[in-house]
Amino acid sequence: MLPSQNSGLTISASDAERRAERAESRLARLQATTAALAEVMTPAEAATAVLEQGLGLFDAQTGGVYVLENDHELRALAALRTHFSQGSTIPLSSGFPVTRSARTGEHLFLEDREALLAQFPDIISLLPETVKALVALALTVKGRVIGSIGLTFSSPRTFPPEERRFADAIAAQCALAIDRAVLMERERAAADRAGFLGKASELLASSLDSERVLEELIRLAVPRFADWCAVEMIEGDATKQLAVAHVDPNKVKWAAALREKYPPDRLAPRGLYEVIRSGKPEIYPVISAEMLEASAIDAEHLQLIRELHIRSIIVVPLIASGKPIGGMTLVWAESGNVYDNSDLELFMELSHRAALAIENARLYRDLRQAVQVRDDFLAAAGHELKTPLAALLMQINSLQRLIRRGTLPSNLGDRLDKASNAGTRLERLIDELLDVSRITSGRLRLEPQPVHLDELVREVVERFVDQAASAGCAIALRTVPVRGIWDRPRIDQVVSNLVANALKYGRGAPVEIDLTSRGPHAVLQITDHGIGIAVEEQVKIFERFERAVANREFGGFGLGLWIARQIVEASGGTIAVTSAPGRGARFTVELPLGSEDGDG
Ligand code: ADP
Repeated sequence: MLPSQNSGLTISASDAERRAERAESRLARLQATTAALAEVMTPAEAATAVLEQGLGLFDAQTGGVYVLENDHELRALAALRTHFSQGSTIPLSSGFPVTRSARTGEHLFLEDREALLAQFPDIISLLPETVKALVALALTVKGRVIGSIGLTFSSPRTFPPEERRFADAIAAQCALAIDRAVLMERERAAADRAGFLGKASELLASSLDSERVLEELIRLAVPRFADWCAVEMIEGDATKQLAVAHVDPNKVKWAAALREKYPPDRLAPRGLYEVIRSGKPEIYPVISAEMLEASAIDAEHLQLIRELHIRSIIVVPLIASGKPIGGMTLVWAESGNVYDNSDLELFMELSHRAALAIENARLYRDLRQAVQVRDDFLAAAGHELKTPLAALLMQINSLQRLIRRGTLPSNLGDRLDKASNAGTRLERLIDELLDVSRITSGRLRLEPQPVHLDELVREVVERFVDQAASAGCAIALRTVPVRGIWDRPRIDQVVSNLVANALKYGRGAPVEIDLTSRGPHAVLQITDHGIGIAVEEQVKIFERFERAVANREFGGFGLGLWIARQIVEASGGTIAVTSAPGRGARFTVELPLGSEDGDG
């Protein structure tokens, strides 16, 4: 009995010894783990340290550390020899042990494949044959689950209670370390982002040259927030790459060549054009090989984009005054980083600020142009008003001198006519100026009444007989009786302006005036054979202060056609020109006849 007792005692003594040894070694490892975790800074570092320790501690074959990205996804923070790679996300609803642990906060110890099959029948086929046992540890901090750790083993094994307790202690340490690192990183990232946005805003406010500012802006984003950053602006019905940034200038050149050969696909249901069309950003946290293949245009393109090692993409729209004006693309590639929703928020904020700056720059440019046009106009208007005024004063002064001398010139009538013409011209110019303020302040009131347009046109032509003769223009007038409801003096003003222009710009050649009616419209065409108007000027001449000719050559404010258009449009009609340089011009006015009882 004794020997056996002895041997029993010996066994339990050595058992106790082994247990004590194991406990000691565990304690040592736990301390080592704690020490290792104390030094880590980033969540990825923490996760990697956890895995390195964990694999060794439990003799595991593969392992992964996952954190809750949001309410419905886990993100792999670190992975050793598993098919989940770092940065990839797993839906929380999927049936893996790690997602179950993260959902329930429980540790799972699956000692062999039977246990796995019993508890996870849906995913057993996804696990490699080499996985014979598996542990999923929930990472919990103060009752809050922040993620999970998965370890796999190449042979079946048991997990006695003390080992489970040890695993629990390790998991608690890891959870604390990862949580602390995640918080620290969040703070760091928030400070970084705030700093970046601050710098970006400073930059955006520093200049009104928006293109140059955007170029600098995307350089600011690289490499802290992207390996690649590019801005495309809408130009016509396509986009033009404004700038692209990468730390390596050779790569920038290479990318420019790639874009030239393979411009962004306008019809693609995703990507730049869709973002611009919809105004909604897109984020692709992890670009898979299949996604790359799907986006490639041909085999060569696929080869080239594979060489970029694209990992993660964000595309944000640039929207100014509610209208898309372009898009910004950010790419993580060789650095191996991935984007998450906080990055998306950052870049939405950035694109918002950039678009505002672009909008401001555009408004400023327009304003400057408008001020320039107005200043040019004022300078020209001074000269313009002085010409008839000088003629008027000259006649009056010379007549005064003669009268003082007691003589009256024989051509007194002619001189008074000249003075009167100059006065009339002055009056017309001042009326034009007054019309501008009347129209822009919305005070142009039409007083429609029945008008015989053919008679009105004839009267205007008669008034211009002398002027036509001195311009060397024979006027051919062809009319049919046309009666409608219009503001007579205003329509007179339109016709007079067009006839005056035809004589001014069509000097020395015949002028044709045709009045017809077409359906419910009167159609008036005034055709000259003078200097004509270049196509690019044809829209502009109906704008305020716009002239297609130099001031000195032909007098005028550049207001007549703008006023004419306002009157015609207020009467419900249209005014248009067809012309070519040196080939004369034809102005066509179409006016609705209106009904006697209507408002014309
Ligand atoms: P203004 O004649 O006082 O300059 P308008 O508004 O009447 O102003 O015309 C605007 C511009 O359109 C003119 O400066 C001239 O360049 C161009 N234009 C107008 N009518 C004609 C025409 N019949 N032939 C050629 N150019 C014309």
